Amino acid sequence: MLWYDYIKKTGKVPEWPYKVEYGKEKVVESDVLVIGGGVAGCRAAIEAARRGASVAVAERGSVKRGGQGGAGVDHWHGAVTNPCSKVTPEMYTQAFIESSKGYTNPSARYIIAKEGWDTLRECEDMGVQIRDEDDIFKGAPFRDEETKLLFAYDYESRNCIRIFGHNIKPVLHKTMLELGVSIYNRVCITSLLTEGGKRGARVIGATGVNTRTGEFCVFKAKAVVISTGRVGRLFNFSPEVNQFSSMLDMNLSGQGFSIGWRAGAEFLMMESVGVRGASENNYVPYSTGNCSNTYFGTPIVDSEGREVPYLKTDGSRVGEYGEIFEPEKPEEGGFYIGVGVGLHQPIAKKYRLPDIDPDIPNKIARGEYKLPLYADFTKMPELERRALFGLMIGNEGKTRVPIYRNYTRWGFDPDKDMLLCPPGEPMNFRGSCWWSGGGKGVLNSMSILGSGYLTDWRLQTTVEGLFVAGGQPVNGSGCHGEAQTTGRYAGRQAAKYSRTAHHAEPDPSQLEAEKERCYAPVRAEGGIGWKELNSAIVRIMEDYCSQHRSENVLKLGIKRMRELMANEGSRAYASNPHELGRLIECFGLADVGEMIMEASLARRGSNSALSFYRTDYPNLDEPEWDCFISIKLGENEAETSKLPLDYYVREPYAPTLQENYSLYGAFDA
Ligand SMILES: Cc1cc2nc3c(=O)[nH]c(=O)nc-3n(C[C@H](O)[C@H](O)[C@H](O)COP(=O)(O)OP(=O)(O)OC[C@H]3O[C@@H](n4cnc5c(N)ncnc54)[C@H](O)[C@@H]3O)c2cc1C
Repeated sequence: MLWYDYIKKTGKVPEWPYKVEYGKEKVVESDVLVIGGGVAGCRAAIEAARRGASVAVAERGSVKRGGQGGAGVDHWHGAVTNPCSKVTPEMYTQAFIESSKGYTNPSARYIIAKEGWDTLRECEDMGVQIRDEDDIFKGAPFRDEETKLLFAYDYESRNCIRIFGHNIKPVLHKTMLELGVSIYNRVCITSLLTEGGKRGARVIGATGVNTRTGEFCVFKAKAVVISTGRVGRLFNFSPEVNQFSSMLDMNLSGQGFSIGWRAGAEFLMMESVGVRGASENNYVPYSTGNCSNTYFGTPIVDSEGREVPYLKTDGSRVGEYGEIFEPEKPEEGGFYIGVGVGLHQPIAKKYRLPDIDPDIPNKIARGEYKLPLYADFTKMPELERRALFGLMIGNEGKTRVPIYRNYTRWGFDPDKDMLLCPPGEPMNFRGSCWWSGGGKGVLNSMSILGSGYLTDWRLQTTVEGLFVAGGQPVNGSGCHGEAQTTGRYAGRQAAKYSRTAHHAEPDPSQLEAEKERCYAPVRAEGGIGWKELNSAIVRIMEDYCSQHRSENVLKLGIKRMRELMANEGSRAYASNPHELGRLIECFGLADVGEMIMEASLARRGSNSALSFYRTDYPNLDEPEWDCFISIKLGENEAETSKLPLDYYVREPYAPTLQENYSLYGAFDA
C-alpha cells in the first residue's frame, strides 16, 4: 500500500514496524569483515570464503540488490585477457596512465587488466549470461562467432564486453549464501576498531548501527575490506526527486572514507573534484536522448532532420550518417577505452572515442541546428539497434524496468521512434551525455573523481589489516568490472592476511566513545533533522569548495563545517533508527568535506589533469606540484605530504608492473 493510501484509509501515519533497541550490543566474529555489499564487496566475500576464511558482510541496504550495480550491468570494462582481445594488461594500464597524466592507481589498473576476464568468467559459472547463446546477434561486427562474445565501443581491439547482467547481484548473493557468508543487511558501519583503540594501529573490526532496530553491532575481524562505493550527497542533495535514485544511491555517503580517515589511513587525490552536468531536477539517466556511454553511437538529428555528425579527435567526421559503428581505427598503437571508467575527460587522444560535434552549443545558438534534438535509432543498422535498445538498455543498471520495459509497454519502438533530447540552453549540449543536462542542467554540480585510499600492491591501505576494493575506495578506478575485479583481489588478500593475524579484543573506551557519538541524536532535543544538516553540508561545499579555490575561502569553509557540526550537528535529532543512520552518514559527509578542503589547501598549484584550479596559485601544471598529495588525520589535524606519481614501481616495490603483480598478487605469494 502506498503511504498516501495508508494515511487516507487510517487517518494516521504508520508506526515504526520494528522493535527499537538503541544501544543493545550484537557481537559478530569472523576472519574477514567486508563493509559494503555492492558488487565489489560481494566478490571480496566470495573470494575470501573460497580461500577458507569465515566471512561477514555488513551492508547499509540489502546485498541482493544493493549498490550501484544492484540493478544490473550491460558492459564489462577491462576484460583484456579475453581470447579475442588485442590489448595486453600493460597496454591497458599505460592507456590509463597517459589518459590521466599519471593521476590514477596503476597497480589497481594492472590487477584489473590481469584478472578482469577471469572475474567475468567466474560470473558466467555462477549464472550470468556473458555470451550471445541464442545467436541473436549472429553476423554482427561486434560479435566473435567462435566464442559468441559481444563487444562494446571498440570492435577491433575487443577489450570491453557486452553482457546480459541484469541478474548479477542475485547471482552473487546466491553464491555467497552457498559459501556460508554471514550477511548483515541494514547495518550502517560507523567506525573502524583499531588495536588498543589507537589511530593508525592495526584494524581489528568495526562498529555499526542497525537502521531498523537501532542495535549497536560490534564486528570483530582479523582483516577488513572496505567496499562502500562512491561519495554522493556531498555536492548536491535532492532526495525527494530523482537525483539519488538514478546515478548514485542514497546509501553512498562517503562513510567508507570517513571511517578510514578517523582510523588514520592515508588518502590520495582528495582534492580531485570534477564538475558534472547534474542539476537538482534531472531526468532519469538513459530516459532521454543522448549519445554517450550506453547510447554511444546513436545518430542525433535536429528538429528538421539535420544530422549532427560524430567527429574523430582530429575534427574530421566519422563516415556517413549512421556509420559510427565502423569508426576509423584509433591512432597507431591506440584503442578505445570507452566511457565511465573513472577518468577525468578528455581521455588521451589515442584512446578517445569519436564524439558528437563539440561546437554544437554554438551551432544551436547560431540557429544552424534547430532544437529539439532527437536520438534517431531508426538510422542504425538492425543489429546495432537491438544491441543498444535491447541488450544494453535491457541489462544496464536501473534501466531494465523504468526504461526498457516501461517504454516498450507504453508503445515506444526504436524501429520507428526517436527519443527526445531535452531542449534548453545551448550550453546544455556541451559533451554528448545529455541525460542529466535537460532543463536547467548547466554544469552546476560537482563530485569527487578518482579519490580514494592509498594502497599497496595487495590493495592494503596504510593501516594494517585494512584492504579496499571497488568503484572508488581504490583511488582512480571506476566501473562495474573493475569493482568486481578489485573486490575479488582484495578478498583474496584479506583471506591470506587473516591466516596469520590474530583476533584482538576491541578497546572498551573506543567502543564507549563510538556509542556515545552514534546515539547522541536520539537524545537530542530541539535541533534540526538529517535532511537540513545534509543540505547545510552541501551548501558549504558549494560555496567554499567550488572548482576554483583559494586559501582564504578554503580555510573559511573548514571553519564553517566545524562550526556547523559543533552546533547544529551536535543537536541534530533522529526520531527512529532510519533517521539515525542518515544522520551518522551526515557526520561522515562532513569528514569527507574537510578531507577535500584540506587536500585542496595542501596542493598549492593548479593542475589540469585533476581539473584543479587555485586562484591564488594560477600557474598551471608546475613541475613541483606534479605529484600526489597524500592526506591523513594526525593527532588532531590533517597531515599532508607529497608522493611521486610512480610510487607503485619505486622502493619498496619492484620496478615493473609484472614483477610486482607476481610478487604480491598470488594467494601463496
Ligand atoms: C545506473 C548505473 C548504471 C551503470 N552501468 C554500468 C555499466 O554498464 N558498466 C559498468 O562498468 N559500470 C556501470 N555502472 C557503474 C558501476 O555500477 C559501479 O562502478 C559499481 O557498481 C561500483 O561497485 P562498488 O561495489 O564499488 O560500489 P556499489 O555497487 O555502489 O556498492 C557499495 C555498497 O556499499 C554500501 N555501503 C555504503 N556505505 C556503507 C556503510 N557505511 N555501511 C555498510 N554498507 C555501506 C552501499 O549500500 C552499497 O551497497 C553503473 C552505475 C549506475 C548507477
